[in-house]
Amino acid sequence: MKIGFIGLGNMGAPMATNLARARHAVAGFDVVGVTVEGVAQAASATEAATGAEVVITMLPNGDILRRVAAEIIPAMEPGAVLLDCSTVDVQSARDVAAEAVAAGLHALDAPVSGGVGGAAAGTLTFMVGGGEDGFNIARKLFDVMGQKAVHCGPSGNGQAAKICNNMILGVTMIATCEAFALADKLGLDRQAMFDVVSTSSGYSWSMNAYCPAPGVGPKSPADNDYKPGFAAELMLKDLRLSQMAAEAVDADTPMGRAACDLYAQFVEKEGGKGRDFSAMLPRFEARGHG
Ligand code: NAD
Repeated sequence: MKIGFIGLGNMGAPMATNLARARHAVAGFDVVGVTVEGVAQAASATEAATGAEVVITMLPNGDILRRVAAEIIPAMEPGAVLLDCSTVDVQSARDVAAEAVAAGLHALDAPVSGGVGGAAAGTLTFMVGGGEDGFNIARKLFDVMGQKAVHCGPSGNGQAAKICNNMILGVTMIATCEAFALADKLGLDRQAMFDVVSTSSGYSWSMNAYCPAPGVGPKSPADNDYKPGFAAELMLKDLRLSQMAAEAVDADTPMGRAACDLYAQFVEKEGGKGRDFSAMLPRFEARGHG
C-alpha cells in the first residue's frame, strides 16, 4: 500500500519502520526532520499525504491533529483513509473525522496501547472508532503494527475506549501503590503481599503484570529504577483527557478525578516527570497519613 506517515516520534518512527519492512511504500514527515529506515522523507505533510491510500498520523495532541488534518485532507484522494493513531480528546477526533468524511475520505481514530516497546515489536493494541469500510482497509496495517485491533464503533469511540482504559489503569496503579505503602507500615513483607493480592480479589494488571515494588513479581520499570516504561506525564495526559470527556458528557468520575489530581501533583510538584507512572510507590513510601 502507499502510505503517508505524519509524526515520526517515539511511537511513529518504529511504527513506520515496521510498515516499510512489510514492504509498504511509506513516505514520512515530521516537523523536526527525522529520518527513518526504509521510509522516504517527504518535504511536508501535504507531500506525504498526496496520492496515499492511507495516511497515518501519530501526533502529540488534538490541536496539532486538527491543524495537520486541515492541511492534508484537501490533498487526499476520495476513498483514501485518514488513520489517526495519536491519543487526543474525543471531540477533536470526532471533528477531524467529520471533516474527512465530508471530503469523501474514510476516517478512523485508532489510539494504541503497548507503548514504545509495543510499537517497536509490532505488538500494539489498536482501539478503533470509525466506519466498517475504513476499518477493513486499515486492517492489514493493524496486523503489521500490532497484535490486536478492536473496532469500538463510530468515530471517537477508539479515543473513548483508550481514556476509559487508562482511567482504570491510573486508579488501580495508585490503589496498588498506596496498599503496598500501608502494608510496609503494617510490617507485611512485599513478596507476601504480592503472593496474596496477585491471586486474590485485589489483583489487577498493575499488581500482576507491572508490579510497582522492585524485586517482586515479573520484571517491570520498578526493577529499573522506575525509568519508563509508561511515563507519569503520559498517564497525566490521558487522565486529563478522561476528565475533559467526563465533563463534556456530565459523567461522575470521582476516582478518575482523584487520580488526575494526584498525578498532576506528582508530575508538576514532586519530581515525577520522566519517571515511570508506577513510581507512585516510592512517593507514598515517603509520606505519612493525612
Ligand atoms: P513524540 O512527542 O515522541 O512524537 C510526536 C511527533 O510528532 C514528534 O516527533 C513531533 O516532532 C511530531 N510533530 C509535532 N507536530 C507536528 C506537525 N505539525 N507535523 C508533523 N509532525 C509533528 O510522542 P510519542 O511518544 O510518539 O506519542 C505520539 C502519540 O501517541 C501521542 O498522542 C501519545 O499520547 C500517544 N501514545 C504514546 C505512548 C508512549 O508510550 N510514548 C503510548 C501510547 C500512546
